This record gives sequence, structure tokens and C-alpha cells, in this order.
Amino acid sequence: MTVNIAIDGPAGAGKSTIAKRVAKLKNFIYVDTGAMYRAIALYFLRMHIKEDDCNAMISACKEALITIEYQNDEQIVLLNGENVNTLIRTEEVGKMASISSSVKEVREHLLELQRRLAREKNVVMDGRDIGTFVLPNANTKIYLTASSYVRAKRRYEELEQKGIPCDFNQIEKDIIDRDYRDMNREIAPLSQAKDAVYIDSSNLTIEEVVRKILELC
Ligand code: C5P
Repeated sequence: MTVNIAIDGPAGAGKSTIAKRVAKLKNFIYVDTGAMYRAIALYFLRMHIKEDDCNAMISACKEALITIEYQNDEQIVLLNGENVNTLIRTEEVGKMASISSSVKEVREHLLELQRRLAREKNVVMDGRDIGTFVLPNANTKIYLTASSYVRAKRRYEELEQKGIPCDFNQIEKDIIDRDYRDMNREIAPLSQAKDAVYIDSSNLTIEEVVRKILELC
């Protein structure tokens, strides 16, 4: 039997940073399911599929084989064999991912890969529906969030550091829109699993959150 830790929460709550650290400290594999949705979204963008063309997404997703590999503990997402790790980190891909992830067939396409990884390895898996749907029997479930202001501030500082021009109000608006889509879609919406522990990271450091999770495991 493998051990599974599920971390769900809205965009920008710090899930990936924290999940990566917990995975490293416990010597588990880190699985970033958002990256899988982003890789499929990249494929849709490359195929020039429109945001509202659900039928095109349903047929195109059958052609998009998503697999993952690990190199030096880092998850590499492969789209039909191509390493797309750096290409999926744009706002455009993030937005398309949050739209196309509401399509049932897109979710089903990724579900088996996610469940298989958790069956085969001890994992820390992060996403939106891990504790509620993908791994309902996970050993530890965390719902990690922070206020939209704090999440937008973190994103703003990250972009500023990289020298990318950005507008704080626009970033906060995008985050609120994304939360709305993720929480209100029909299939596997973002919500706290009944048995998940709620952590608000607005006033906590990364180390404090990691410590809390390790105590819970
Ligand atoms: O976490 P990240 O921002 O990379 O996720 C991109 C999008 O993929 C999210 O906005 C969400 O719509 C979708 N997603 C999902 N279920 C998951 C992980 C991500 O629907 N388990």
C-alpha cells in the first residue's frame, strides 16, 4: 500500500512550493496535476481551439498523450513526447487550462494517469479535486488557501522579480475569475473535502505551513 498526501486549493495559495518541500522531506514523489491540465490546454491552443469550443476539445484531447517523468526530483510533463515544462507556465495557458478543465472528457483523460501514479508510488499530489475525487482515500488531505489579495501580491512580486511588467489589480481580478470558474464548474469543482484540514497561509511562512502538514502526516 502506498501513502498519499492530497493538497487542494485555489491558484496561488502556495500548493506547489509546499507540496514539493513536503515530498522532498518525506522522500515521496511530487505530482503536479495542474501541469497536466496546462499541457492539454497548450495542445488546444496550438490547435487554435476556441475557449468555448467544447466539442473540438473533446476530440482533440484524445490526440494529446500526457505522460510524466522525473529528472533530478523534478516533474517533467511530456505532451506527445515533448517536454513542455517551461511552455505551460504562461497566463494564457493557465487561463485555457482553467476553462478546458471543466470539460468532463478532458478530466477523464487525466484521471487514470493520476490514480496510477498514486497507486504505484508514495505521492504528494496537488490540484483542485485530489482529496474530493481523484484520491478519496488519501492518508492526509489538506485544503490550502489564502486571501485573493495575498495570492495576487505573491504573484505580482514573482513577476516583478522576473522583470515582467504587470498590473496588480488585473492579477487579482484574474485570480478571482479563476477561483470562480474552478469552484463553480459542474464536474469535480474545487471544494474542501469533508476530512481535509483547512490551512489559511495568508499570515504563515512556507516553513510554518510545511511544519503543520508534516505534523498531520
Ligand atoms: O494549479 P494550476 O494553476 O497549474 O492549474 C491550472 C488549472 O488546471 C486550474 O485553474 C484548474 O482549472 C485546473 N486544474 C483542475 N484540477 C486539478 C488541477 C488543476 O481542474 N486537479
